[in-house]
Amino acid sequence: MTELAQVSVTALKGVGEAMAEKLARVGLENLQDVLFHLPLRYQDRTRVVPIGALRPGQDAVIEGVVSGADVSMGKRRSLLVRLGDGSGSLSLRFYHFSNAQKEALKRGTHLRCYGEARPGASGLEIYHPEYRVLTGEEDIPVEQNLTPIYPTTEGLTQQRLRQLSQQALDLLGPRSLPDWLPLELAREHQLAPLDEAIRYLHRPPPDADLEELAVGHHWAQHRLAFEELLTHQLSQQRLRESLRAQRAPALPQARDLPVRYLDNLGFAPTGAQRRVGAEIAYDLSQPEPMLRLVQGDVGAGKTVVAALAALQALEAGYQVALMAPTEILAEQHFITFQRWLEPLGIEVAWLAGKLKGKARVSALERIAAGAPMVVGTHALFQPEVQFARLALVIIDEQHRFGVQQRLALRQKGVGGTMCPHQLIMTATPIPRTLAMSAYADLDTSVLDELPPGRTPVNTVLVVDSRRPEVVERVRAACAEGRQAYWVCTLIEESEELTCQAAQSTFEELTLALGELRVGLIHGRMKPVEKAEVMALFKAAELQLLVATTVIEVGVDVPNSSLMIIENPERLGLAQLHQLRGRVGRGSAASHCVLLYHPPLSQIGRERLGIMRETNDGFVIAEKDLQLRGPGEMLGTRQTGLLQFKVADLMRDADLLPAVRDAAQELIQRWPGHVTPLLERWLRHGQQYGQV
Ligand code: ADP
Ligand code: MG
Repeated sequence: MTELAQVSVTALKGVGEAMAEKLARVGLENLQDVLFHLPLRYQDRTRVVPIGALRPGQDAVIEGVVSGADVSMGKRRSLLVRLGDGSGSLSLRFYHFSNAQKEALKRGTHLRCYGEARPGASGLEIYHPEYRVLTGEEDIPVEQNLTPIYPTTEGLTQQRLRQLSQQALDLLGPRSLPDWLPLELAREHQLAPLDEAIRYLHRPPPDADLEELAVGHHWAQHRLAFEELLTHQLSQQRLRESLRAQRAPALPQARDLPVRYLDNLGFAPTGAQRRVGAEIAYDLSQPEPMLRLVQGDVGAGKTVVAALAALQALEAGYQVALMAPTEILAEQHFITFQRWLEPLGIEVAWLAGKLKGKARVSALERIAAGAPMVVGTHALFQPEVQFARLALVIIDEQHRFGVQQRLALRQKGVGGTMCPHQLIMTATPIPRTLAMSAYADLDTSVLDELPPGRTPVNTVLVVDSRRPEVVERVRAACAEGRQAYWVCTLIEESEELTCQAAQSTFEELTLALGELRVGLIHGRMKPVEKAEVMALFKAAELQLLVATTVIEVGVDVPNSSLMIIENPERLGLAQLHQLRGRVGRGSAASHCVLLYHPPLSQIGRERLGIMRETNDGFVIAEKDLQLRGPGEMLGTRQTGLLQFKVADLMRDADLLPAVRDAAQELIQRWPGHVTPLLERWLRHGQQYGQV
């Protein structure tokens, strides 16, 4: 039987060119990809729930008879349909509806609906349920298995993904998808066969433990996470070995430039900056390539450390490349480095994707001719970018870059034979216990001290029914000459919906705060548009910025002192911490309002409580690890330390010791299994993270 990894998705029924392209967008090229494209969550459509037994927040199938349908005016016009089943009643609410739809939902109609019951103006309500009219003649069965909800992209429906996964599951077996975990290892670590785990996760039986699945501690998830983490270990070992075999330019400790730089800086480096700076300086003086990760909380001052490292290479006459994951961030670094280095007589060059035509050609020429300091985005990875004497690559916010990108840059070293040193900086706090596994191929330094004079951000929890008061608070802050962010969080894993929500929040706030200049920034805007909005906000031309989480990383506008985060319960703590790090950068007291939607679960309350209690990213990360709660972790994958498909380093921390042992054993006893595992798991894992 052919291995599913060799069979293109176009072999599936209903997949032509156009569909194959859409599938490629979510990384699905062959049938193995389809099988490893696992549901994000599940819906229980295996039984009809009596309306009287529904709890707020519950997703359920219900059936009932329409007792009336009215157009309600309220804040927004909507169609309100009353539905009862003898045990109770509720309302279906439609904001978008046609006349035909209204006609079809008249009194006496039998309906089966699916949706989330929420407390609303008229008691329990379901907004825009999926529904079908029951004629009473046919008997429509409920689902046999839990319904998977897959990660998707525009134009690719859940129904389609279910059909495709079903076709792939029909072909799944131990021969079509070889299990590379030797039986002995699987037994030792109590791991189920691969095909069983995959089948289970795509189509869990009705009695599956949904809570366990939601928190990722199901045996089927463990089986896959174990294999993925194992593969990750194996790949890091390989990287390390290949790196050890390479040479790098040994850069003598710099005497002149760092001294002049620090003299002009206007502040003294913290003890932590000095210590980490010295660790890096030593690495750079060695003939082996440095591969060092600097972890430092938001605002810890990583940029100064990067500059000190750069100066050592520059003083030795080499080139340095500094790369950031977004144009906004890269541009910020460009401005900073110009300000710092030009007084020292060092030219700073700029390269980003949006640089076109003549400007681009001239930038490429300058880089090839040896422009000493080059700042940019991942455009620096492109093959046509040739460095003359590259000795150091600095990457900011590492978790957004794949290993692949780091390897690509490695090829760009001096004369193509020497490997540049690499310095990687991340603000993602990783509990110390995990750092070693997360970055087994890197040495790590921790910037564990904030510069003096920071006022911690004061964080409060406010229920969203008090939104009008929060709006007034924004008005007051801006009236005092401050600036504010209003952050809209991810909805239903859909970027499209999230951007729409940001758009309507923008409209609402523009109306409510007529005297303020309000801006909008979200992921669907062009880089140029985003950059324009950011520039206006930075220049205080805009007072309030409505944003999606695109502003999460690195944006530095010290005059902003207030941040509102809507539905913070949808985000991971690490992401909330990153967001909050956008305020508290100036001398003014700063505030962060977490505008949550009730009801909060016990764990949800505790998690948000941590945000209120501490500003320390490491404490937050450790607590987050202890408090992982069902259904609360949406968004953590997106901010993940590394791009895993199934595993989550924090959640699966307890697997790591066994994974490390298994990796050793595999290498020694079954070396032939290493490459197939790497091929299975890493092909897509090495693409860019989402930006
Ligand atoms: P991050 O670690 O989040 O990248 P930055 O490098 O952007 O932090 O630094 C945040 C701010 O703190 C910047 O405005 C920077 O100039 C300032 N800063 C950095 N180090 C110090 C220091 N030792 N003393 C005072 N301010 C500092
Ligand atoms: Mg930074």
